[in-house]
Amino acid sequence: MDGGQILTQAKLTGRCLCGAVQYEIDGDAERFYYCHCSRCRKLTGSGFASNLLVSPVDCLRWTKGEDKLKHFKVPEAERFYNLFCSECGSPMPRVVEALNGVLIPAGSLNEEPPIAPSARIFWESRAEWTCPDESLPVFAEYPTV
Ligand SMILES: [Zn+2]
Ligand SMILES: [Zn+2]
Repeated sequence: MDGGQILTQAKLTGRCLCGAVQYEIDGDAERFYYCHCSRCRKLTGSGFASNLLVSPVDCLRWTKGEDKLKHFKVPEAERFYNLFCSECGSPMPRVVEALNGVLIPAGSLNEEPPIAPSARIFWESRAEWTCPDESLPVFAEYPTV
């Protein structure tokens, strides 16, 4: 080990619930956030989304079932969209140009993410019943760092 450098280079694979869609990621893990916004809540059916951001935008490769993917953009949103398996409905990684990366629903990964969650964002929008966690910094909306 030299100087405690953190290795964030990530070679990961993932799949949807039914296995029709599979992917590989080979990039740099930038950050891992829990997002409590109302759109992520609807998208996941849970209290928050667990999203790993990996860069650059072209680090994602579909290895199976790309033709099974369905795309839904929230009409009133600037860029929020869902990409999911049309067979089983699992959310799949989606390219976000504005973040220069790919947002990966961490639950779709086959392996452990190389970095740990570091913040809760859109905490102001959280559901009352969502899991509290005092150990992570929280941001009312987008993170300020
Ligand atoms: Zn599926
Ligand atoms: Zn969100």
